[in-house]
Amino acid sequence: MATRFMLSSQSFPLKPHQPLQNTPPFPLTKIHYTAPRNLIRGKRVHSTSKYGNFLGLRPEHQPETLDFDLPWCHPSDRAHFDVIIIGAGPAGIRLAEQVSLYGVKVCCVDPDPLSVWPNNYGVWVDEFESLGLEDCLDKTWPMACVHVNDSKTKYLDRSYGRVGRRKLKERLIEGCVSNGVRFHKAKAWEVEHQEFESCVLCDDGVELKGSLVVDASGFGSRFIEYDKVRNQGYQIAHGVLAEVEEHPFDLDKMVLMDWRDSHLGNEPSLRVSNSKFPTFLYAMPFSSNLVFLEETSLVSRPVLSYMEVKKRMVARLRHLGIRVKRVLEDEKCLIPMGGPLPRIPQNVMAIGGTSGVVHPSTGYMVARTMAVAPVVAFAIAECLGSTRMIRGKALYARVWNSMWPIESRMAREFYSFGMETLLKLDLNGSRSFFNAFFDLKPYYWQGFLSSKLTLQELLWLSMSLFGHASNPSKLDIATKCPLPLAKMMGNIALDYIG
Ligand SMILES: Cc1cc2nc3c(=O)[nH]c(=O)nc-3n(C[C@H](O)[C@H](O)[C@H](O)COP(=O)(O)OP(=O)(O)OC[C@H]3O[C@@H](n4cnc5c(N)ncnc54)[C@H](O)[C@@H]3O)c2cc1C
Repeated sequence: MATRFMLSSQSFPLKPHQPLQNTPPFPLTKIHYTAPRNLIRGKRVHSTSKYGNFLGLRPEHQPETLDFDLPWCHPSDRAHFDVIIIGAGPAGIRLAEQVSLYGVKVCCVDPDPLSVWPNNYGVWVDEFESLGLEDCLDKTWPMACVHVNDSKTKYLDRSYGRVGRRKLKERLIEGCVSNGVRFHKAKAWEVEHQEFESCVLCDDGVELKGSLVVDASGFGSRFIEYDKVRNQGYQIAHGVLAEVEEHPFDLDKMVLMDWRDSHLGNEPSLRVSNSKFPTFLYAMPFSSNLVFLEETSLVSRPVLSYMEVKKRMVARLRHLGIRVKRVLEDEKCLIPMGGPLPRIPQNVMAIGGTSGVVHPSTGYMVARTMAVAPVVAFAIAECLGSTRMIRGKALYARVWNSMWPIESRMAREFYSFGMETLLKLDLNGSRSFFNAFFDLKPYYWQGFLSSKLTLQELLWLSMSLFGHASNPSKLDIATKCPLPLAKMMGNIALDYIG
């Protein structure tokens, strides 16, 4: 779903890339060459105005490819796989790497299995450390901060990291290659099922047969079924990795949320809309002149206009005195959040964006997917590994239940209720909510953000948040949230009975 604006070829004379001042502690490998100043693809582009409007700058990003000799799927292997995984995003490749560890025969289908993932992923460092993946972070910050308003900033004593997309994909692909995973470069078109076998039809005419098909094709998936209305919220954001003249951020802190709105003082219409449907700035300062900036609507339904998000970002950067000289990458982030889980079980297994693991209140997913893939892999290996031969409906039920045991389904109802509450909050409500949220004991706010709390802990957290909320916020929650609360209780009861 991420829309990116990329240059596919270069029509200007190339010259070796000039390093930026204060080179960041990771290689900017995607920028190999730079165009003459203000000349991209032979066209003169707008220079940044004195107000710092960067929207006219074209991103210089070049799509990158990994340099790997992948074991492709040959006609002779096509007889039968144990598992066919559709999609080589973070979720698909992580599952392929994990399940193939057990000697299970895997094929991964993707139109471009070697492309480096485009999104800028952030995670909490402890989440990656607990999985032994900390060497796949290309930059970490010892602290994060949240600007609640002009006079209040909270400092969070938890390290945050930017995922090294190339490093992580290389590491997982290396595992796949050494465990014998095969790759097929195509788009899956259709999936057909028989009692104990499924067939993936690809757009190049190839048919791949396997005992289990796993859909890891992301938010746009066509292969997963739902039996409830999909009333999702959406996170929308505009992000740029930018070379700037200077910026006001401390280099040892990333900015998780900046809810200040003083930049909208001279923009009455933006101010009014922001006070109803607020956005915040998320910033990762890499060096004194290199920073990733993202104006973010945490969750909205219907989704906030993308142009509105960009206009607010222009006003904010101008107010912060950030003049963008070059846009190295940009991303449109659109993440569906919450809504019902897929029907459990069903013949196709899901992982990643299509499986419901996106955190309904934050939109984060990468760390959770890295953590859940080994659990799902173990369940698959128990059914299809060398000693057992459980296939068909029994296999689907076991694998789906490994990802969504009953306690996790009930906890997810709670996280979705969190999303419904956030949807009701205006700027002041969001500020008081996060002020109270980050005052909770670290165990609770960290556990909530990493989807690690039990149902009892989530109940305690909600009562505590409500107890600490300001009187207007209490009134807001009491008047606006009874319906979502009743729905959540109903769904929890159904999960429990069913
Ligand atoms: C811009 C953006 C920023 C994000 N930032 C964060 C973040 O900071 N932290 C975080 O935790 N989460 C983040 N997310 C959310 C989530 O982690 C990402 O969307 C993540 O990429 C989802 O991984 P995935 O493997 O499920 O799907 P994807 O990354 O979308 O990968 C799907 C793969 O499947 C392939 N595919 C699609 N259709 C087919 C088909 N029919 N046949 C074969 N292959 C197919 C695609 O080519 C792609 O390679 C972000 C999302 C976006 C959009």
